[in-house]
Amino acid sequence: MNGLMMDCPLVISSILRRAARYFPEKAIVSRYEDESIFRSNYGQFYTRVVRLMNVLRDLGIKPGDRVATFAWNHRRHLELYFAVPCLGAVLHTVNLRLHREQLRYIFNHAQDRVIFADRALAGLLAGLKPNLPTVERYILMDERGPEPAELPTPWVDYEQLMEAASDREEFPRLDENTAAGLCYTSGTTGEPKGVLYSHRSTYLHAMSGCMVDTSAVGEREIVLPVVPMFHVNAWGLPYSSALAGATQVFPGPLVLDRPLAELLEAERVTIAVGIPLIWNRLYQYLKENKHDLSRLHTLFVGGAAAPRTLIEGFARDFGINVIQGWGMTETSPVGTVSRLKSAMVGWTETERLQVQVKQGIPVITVEARILDEAGQDLPWDGQHVGELVVQGPWIASAYYANSGADAAFTQDGWFRTGDMATMDERGYMQIADRKKDLIKRKGEWISSVDMENEALAHPGILETAVVGRPDEECDELPVLFFVTCKELAAPVEIQDIIALLGHKFARWQLPRPEDVHLVASLPKTSVGKIDKKALRLWLPCPPLEAQPS
Ligand code: ADP
Repeated sequence: MNGLMMDCPLVISSILRRAARYFPEKAIVSRYEDESIFRSNYGQFYTRVVRLMNVLRDLGIKPGDRVATFAWNHRRHLELYFAVPCLGAVLHTVNLRLHREQLRYIFNHAQDRVIFADRALAGLLAGLKPNLPTVERYILMDERGPEPAELPTPWVDYEQLMEAASDREEFPRLDENTAAGLCYTSGTTGEPKGVLYSHRSTYLHAMSGCMVDTSAVGEREIVLPVVPMFHVNAWGLPYSSALAGATQVFPGPLVLDRPLAELLEAERVTIAVGIPLIWNRLYQYLKENKHDLSRLHTLFVGGAAAPRTLIEGFARDFGINVIQGWGMTETSPVGTVSRLKSAMVGWTETERLQVQVKQGIPVITVEARILDEAGQDLPWDGQHVGELVVQGPWIASAYYANSGADAAFTQDGWFRTGDMATMDERGYMQIADRKKDLIKRKGEWISSVDMENEALAHPGILETAVVGRPDEECDELPVLFFVTCKELAAPVEIQDIIALLGHKFARWQLPRPEDVHLVASLPKTSVGKIDKKALRLWLPCPPLEAQPS
């Protein structure tokens, strides 16, 4: 039909151009591993990205080729975030905490032609190199980390290539449905599966991040992603920040306790983003160490359920808002965000917290339903638990190159998340569990996420995890593992934990005293979440080496 709107492609180069043209003086701050700081701005950044595109051309990278990164959060990684897709190639961010076997599988499945790696991490790649036949070259980024014993060959230094490259500005015209990024799931549930993001999906997701009811990234914000750039594009923050002209602060590999608190303070960060574990650690640290974090107004939390105590504690003790979002590698990742609606502002604190611990309502363009086992919609009453299915322009429609099950997608185009959830009357979704983590006791479900959340209300408990153990009579029974805080006023009594859980759970749902175990630490996955697969190997009780000394 004549007279329709212009057909302007949503491509990553327009995010870059916007940042450089309208916000050239806005800062990009990057901390090296030795804690020194490098400062640049979007104007200088633009010139470097143009050069890096020429480096990639000189390396023979063609549209569609996969270019891998193996790096922490820093400015050069950001350069790759733009240069690779702007050239029409695919930025494949690889999770550096994966097991060797998974790394080998992923590099080979993606058929990466080159790997851009932090020099300090390259030792890991040296060992893998004989098994990576598609990789032609390793480009090492010197982030002032420790020198590895061995380097993969042939390698070349990033800055050396940059110096030799031309400044010629040449952006190919790309269709918005061109592939831009590739990320594999962390394999918590089987072989890693590849998810391919397009320019369009990345752009739309970045726009959503700039909305006040999503991540609220605006020009005035100073944004620090603790979430790794190798994990679902650091939740899209680098793209949202560039689009908005927000200052970006990259922490490098040091993201716990003092180095994190100091960086947040020194750079006057306003929004920081990461998984609950990071913020839990920071909260414990801040209780004992004084820092001026008065600029920090929001911690955006996702990847695992944000405990009530965390939301409550940051608001009460530091005046910081903890905003929870839910998402997956397959959903780019932000699918839902839990913000209070205006009508809730006058509610009591307890009522508000009951909403904040939920994972929230879908962000714009995303739709969500909960289904029973027969695929029928369940009522939105906050009670019925069903599988969460989602749909939207930044949600995967299949896995890359058939990696993994098509069973994840329904016939009529919804993505089955594998998460079990409730929806309440207001549309707030709450994750009950991963499908396989729900505990089934005599045909009734017990949510491990709920139980963990309740146990964390004990002031002496730092971390906790609940898994089901097989039982002949009951099918499954909950087993609770916990780690205590460092400074304890009094020892944590198992009976007290069970009594605390009794406020929320029926008697039949409670763990038996012999199923509650104090451990020294909990096993974590490559993205820092509690590894329930590894925990199940401990059953029926933790091995000696897991017990506190
Ligand atoms: P993997 O599936 O390999 O763990 P992802 O990072 O994609 O890798 O993890 C997505 C999963 O993390 C979701 O399916 C969900 O189970 C969990 N998750 C993400 N955000 C939240 C949240 N806010 N609350 C509870 N669980 C969450």
